[in-house]
Amino acid sequence: VKKIAVFTSGGDAPGMNAALRAVVRTANHYNLECYGVREGYNGLINNDFTRMGPRSVKNIITEGGTILKSARSLEFKTKEGRQAAYENCKKLGIDALVCIGGDGTFRGANIFNEEFGIKVIGVPGTIDNDIFGTDNTIGYDTALNTAMEAIDKIRDTATSHNRVFFVEVMGRDAGFIALNSGLATGAIDILIPEQKDSIEDLFRTFERAEKAGKASSIVVVAEGEKLGSIYDLAKATKAGFPDYDIRVAVLGHIQRGGSPSCADRVLASQLGYAAVVGLMEGRTNVMAGLKSNQIVYTPIEEAIKKHNEIDPGLLKISEILAI
Ligand code: ATP
Repeated sequence: VKKIAVFTSGGDAPGMNAALRAVVRTANHYNLECYGVREGYNGLINNDFTRMGPRSVKNIITEGGTILKSARSLEFKTKEGRQAAYENCKKLGIDALVCIGGDGTFRGANIFNEEFGIKVIGVPGTIDNDIFGTDNTIGYDTALNTAMEAIDKIRDTATSHNRVFFVEVMGRDAGFIALNSGLATGAIDILIPEQKDSIEDLFRTFERAEKAGKASSIVVVAEGEKLGSIYDLAKATKAGFPDYDIRVAVLGHIQRGGSPSCADRVLASQLGYAAVVGLMEGRTNVMAGLKSNQIVYTPIEEAIKKHNEIDPGLLKISEILAI
């Protein structure tokens, strides 16, 4: 490879800038020409490429969001859109793409590679941690800490008023943020899509908490929880426990923002570097990940199809320690 392009796509995540910096500087180190593409796949279609050198990424390792901007591109989902994207890459002589994003981004990259043969490598950037082939995704650790800090603050008011709080955290269809932030904040129950929950189980937990003398409680609910919306859960609980003073808090997009944690900066640096080196070694249609502190490359197809499992041991510990 001689000329590469890099973009960030899908939901933004803290640490995407650190990954971009690593890609641009590694490319510079090995004398590859590097272009940044604005707004994900839209930039490929709209010919929005900018030559990037080591100084283009100065001071961004500390910044949340993504300086290249991200987008959800409907056009790239059409054959015509991808054809236009390919023509632009060809004109510029781009022979490989570094795609920083989540599973949707990888699905697009996989299709693009199969249709046009352009080399692609994925870097997992999403707060959801729902990508197979890496222990953690870039942005997850920061989002987890943001959720934890927010729940800590909610706990202060919950305790002062003897309230029951239902707190919704992000994660799409995955419960990693919910499980870990719930454990870290001492939630009495954690509801995640990977586990079959029932309202009866939740009520039993409230009863046990009451018997144990707990006056306030926090229930952490993953946004993908299948039992019902957080408002339905709060309503059902009010019907079962009319004396409870119940509040709902949806943490929302604050979980996507902020300066990346040290762990995310280090991970992003390793994976951005690994993506460029992987391309130089002739790898394509794979994702760079970190497993047990080793850089590994997983076929993109596998990364999309498989899922990281929730640790049942962690769930058990959270149940034992909560009350
Ligand atoms: P996150 O999980 O953080 O939301 P993501 O990468 O999964 O990130 P998506 O919006 O699902 O976010 O995907 C990003 C972009 O990838 C889409 O907007 C689209 O342009 C492209 N994409 C997704 N699926 C396909 C597909 N089947 N074919 C072509 N392009 C796709």
